[in-house]
Amino acid sequence: SKTAEVINGKDLSHELKMEMKQEVAQLEKEGIVPHLTVVLVGEDPASKSYVSGKQKACTETGMSSDLIKLDETVTEEELLKLIDKLNHDNHVHGILVQLPLPKHIAEQKVIEAIDPSKDVDGFHPVSIGRMMIGEDTFLPCTPYGIITMLKSKNIEISGKHAVIVGRSNIVGKPVGQLLLNENATVTYCHSRTKNLREFTKSADILVVAVGKPHVINGEDVKEGAVVIDVGVNRIEDGSLTGDVDFDSAKEKASYITPVPKGVGPMTITMLLKNTIKAAKELNRK
Ligand code: NDP
Repeated sequence: SKTAEVINGKDLSHELKMEMKQEVAQLEKEGIVPHLTVVLVGEDPASKSYVSGKQKACTETGMSSDLIKLDETVTEEELLKLIDKLNHDNHVHGILVQLPLPKHIAEQKVIEAIDPSKDVDGFHPVSIGRMMIGEDTFLPCTPYGIITMLKSKNIEISGKHAVIVGRSNIVGKPVGQLLLNENATVTYCHSRTKNLREFTKSADILVVAVGKPHVINGEDVKEGAVVIDVGVNRIEDGSLTGDVDFDSAKEKASYITPVPKGVGPMTITMLLKNTIKAAKELNRK
């Protein structure tokens, strides 16, 4: 067997961003500058780094963004008030509240306070519901990025067995739903799944979103499968690694995504796509 073709999310992101840059330039001629407002609560280093990546990507494509930094001690009421203000600010097209939030704030309440027409993260129940019934909506960025990666390689989804390992609301569940919308037969696996390997070995498309280094290796993968590794794990030597053991899995797979330079950059890129979509739709109203 030959080794897998690597789907490079960084390169694909670059291509998509160059396309978006042209679209943003065109919108600017019409007087529309897509604008993303990011809200960051507290000082979590990982959150800070995600937020700066998102802002940098906005700048690269000619979009504008601003960052509202709030102290760790901000009350839920104050945060909800801010969101209400942003909902009514015509200059703001996308609102992103970086998660996780401090324990004293009800995350779901904050997500549901965002106007669905500005919900560029795609986490609002209205967005999720629309996705579920196959309506046009903001798709959650990581699943949207995964589908975009598959399509970039013309990988057939219809009729394939897609196995999703992980069932979080932001990755596992929605990526399964999007693959179902594309006519895959979908199986969800999680921490209570018995005989995980029996499922993963029957996957034509295997998506792994667990958050544990190398829970999946070549032995778990069917010959010729497409392997999408969502995991981002910081290991002892300080480097990043995925949920999949890349070296052994690539000997079995037909396509595989690396970590880093895989799904991660695509997530940010789809956030930009959603922000442009929001800007266009809000200006059409
Ligand atoms: P969660 O912790 O919310 O969910 C993890 C899921 O994995 C749960 O459904 C859990 O099952 C399941 N699980 C845990 N252990 C096992 C196991 N041994 N076997 C099978 N299933 C297991 O994580 P997220 O979905 O938020 O993130 C997953 C990974 O993806 C993380 O590494 C995260 O950093 C990364 N990530 C990367 C993004 C990117 O842009 N590249 C974006 C978002 C996340 P149960 O439900 O039963 O507890």
